[in-house]
Amino acid sequence: MRDEVRMMMLELLKQEIFNASSVHGEGREARAKIAEARNAVAEMAGTSSDHVIFTSSASEAANLALTPHYLHGKHEIKFAKAFVSAIEHPCVLSGGRFGSENIEYLKVDSEGVIDLNALKVAMAPFKAVYDALEDKNDPSYQPPFVAVMLANNETGVVEPVYEVAEIVHETGGFLLVDAVQGAGKLILDIESLEADALLLSAHKIGGPQGVGALILKSTAYKPYPLVRGGGQENHHRAGTENVLAIAGFGKAAKIAMDEFAEVNERIVELRNALELALVQSLDNNQSDLLVFAQTAKRLGNTLCFALKGLNAETALIGFDLAGIAISSGSACSSGKVKSSHVLKAMEVEDDLAQCALRISLGWNTQKEDVDGFINAWSSQVKRLYEAA
Ligand code: PLP
Repeated sequence: MRDEVRMMMLELLKQEIFNASSVHGEGREARAKIAEARNAVAEMAGTSSDHVIFTSSASEAANLALTPHYLHGKHEIKFAKAFVSAIEHPCVLSGGRFGSENIEYLKVDSEGVIDLNALKVAMAPFKAVYDALEDKNDPSYQPPFVAVMLANNETGVVEPVYEVAEIVHETGGFLLVDAVQGAGKLILDIESLEADALLLSAHKIGGPQGVGALILKSTAYKPYPLVRGGGQENHHRAGTENVLAIAGFGKAAKIAMDEFAEVNERIVELRNALELALVQSLDNNQSDLLVFAQTAKRLGNTLCFALKGLNAETALIGFDLAGIAISSGSACSSGKVKSSHVLKAMEVEDDLAQCALRISLGWNTQKEDVDGFINAWSSQVKRLYEAA
C-alpha cells in the first residue's frame, strides 16, 4: 500500500465513520468521502462517477458482471452464452453466473494474444442473426457476452481490446474487460477501448486489499445484482459501504494517475535491465532461458520466464531465503504451486511451465531491488540450476 494511502486511512480511522446511507450530517460526511473516491476512480477509467459500482474485490465485480440477466433500458436482456478468453484470471474464467454449459473458451496464440479469427468464428452465428434483425433491440434476440482481459497477470501481455470490441459489437454483444493489471500501467479509457464494462481492484494500484469496482460504459445496462438487499451503490450492490477502503481506493487512483508517466518510464527500464541481466548471467547457456511472450506487447512491469531444468518451486525457495518475494507461473490461493492455465493456453509444454517464474515490479521498485534480485539469482538460484 502506498504510504499516502495508509496515512489517509489511519487519519480516517481515528474518526467515527458513520453509515453513508444515513441522512444526518455525519452520514453525509461519509457519503462525501465515497463520492470523492468515486470521482477519482471514474476519472481513472475515463467515465463519470455514476458509472462506478464499488464492490469488495475485482472478483466480486466479475461475478456481478458475468450474468446472463441484464436490464437494458426498460427491457430485460438475456445473454445466450459467455465467451471467455482462456487466459483470464480465475474470477472471470469461472464464468460467474453463467451455467457451465453456456461458457466457451476463446483461444490465444503462442504469445498469449487472443486469436481474433477464432473470435470471429465464434461470433459468426450471432452476427448472422443480428444482421437480419429489423429491430436491433428485439428483446427475443440473445446476444453473446464476451470477456477478454486488458493485460494478463502472469505474462503481462496486453490484449487488442479495441479490435475485440469491434467484433463483439457487430453482434450486439457485450464486452467485459478485466483491467485489474492494466490500471496505473496503461491509460484506461472505457470509451476509447470500447469496452462495455471494466473490472478494477484497489490493491493493484497501491490501495487497500478488499475493494474493487465494476465500471459500466453505459448506465443503460444493469446486471442483475449479485448481492441483494438494500439500495446501496444505486441498487447494484447491497450492503453498508466500506467507507475506509473505498476512500483508500480513491486516494490510490489519484496518485496512480499523477505518477503515471514517471513511474511507468522508470519501471519499464528496470524490467528491461533485469531481463537482460538474467540472460547475460547464463554465459553459454543463454538459450536455456525462455522469456514468455517476449515479442508481444507487454506491461512494462511484468516478466515471466523459465530456466529449463530449474523447477519453479526450487527457485522460489532459493529466492525466499534471499528475502525476495516472487511467484511461480501461477500463484495459487491454496499456497500450492501448480502449473499455469495461461501457459497451458499458450501451448507451453508442461515440463517448461513447471519452471515458470513471474516477476512483478511495483510503483515502488528501485534499481537497488533489481540489483538485489540479480545478486540472489547469481549467488543462490543459478547455482541450483547448475547443480541440477
Ligand atoms: N484479475 C486480475 C488480472 C488479477 O490479477 C486479479 C488479482 O490478482 C483479479 C482479477 C482479482 O482481483 P481481486 O483480488 O480484487 O478479487
